Amino acid sequence: KQSNIDALTGLYNRRYFLTFLEQQQSLGQNTQMCLAIIDIDHFKTVNDTYGHDIGDEVLVQVGHIIQKNIREEDLLVRWGGEEFVLSLSWPYAGKSTSLEELQGRFEQVRQAIAATPIVVGKQKLHLTVSIGVGKRLNAALLKDCWQDILEGADKALYRAKAQGRDSVVLVDHIG
Ligand code: GH3
Ligand code: MG
Ligand code: MG
Repeated sequence: KQSNIDALTGLYNRRYFLTFLEQQQSLGQNTQMCLAIIDIDHFKTVNDTYGHDIGDEVLVQVGHIIQKNIREEDLLVRWGGEEFVLSLSWPYAGKSTSLEELQGRFEQVRQAIAATPIVVGKQKLHLTVSIGVGKRLNAALLKDCWQDILEGADKALYRAKAQGRDSVVLVDHIG
């Protein structure tokens, strides 16, 4: 089990993510999914100002806050450094979840981070995240094209950073 878990944050790691995608493939056609990249804003400043250990503790706490704001069927992965991949899934039920609904779900995560002071020792830190959201697709297809989806999410993330951070951008909205 340890090989599937990120040692610092206790979240699932990249390796588990691949196993998860294989499981999704076998679930058939009835689940729709969406992948997003969540990146902490100006995280380097936290390390530079308070030190690497405080930075580590911030990563743990940010992971907890995100986890508290998603559902059990969603998957949060520490992708590396100060980046997380969040996979949301829902029953397909004949039609796609609207972009507005999708945006709302990620907005909830963004707002939770912005609204929750992170207390580490004597420090009380206010952090934000930027979120880039990839295209929705059938869960069964994800195993073969997750890299393309994440590339789209990364493009959206880049836009979120450029427009001032602390925001959610859907790749569907930038073309
Ligand atoms: P941006 O808003 O553009 O995302 O800026 P940023 O400072 O968050 O991004 P940048 O990529 O410049 O810095 C990320 C930093 O994250 C640099 C690296 O030292 C730090 N980092 C990566 N992994 C860890 C870790 O496991 N622990 C700690 N404490 N720091 C880490
Ligand atoms: Mg980053
Ligand atoms: Mg960052």
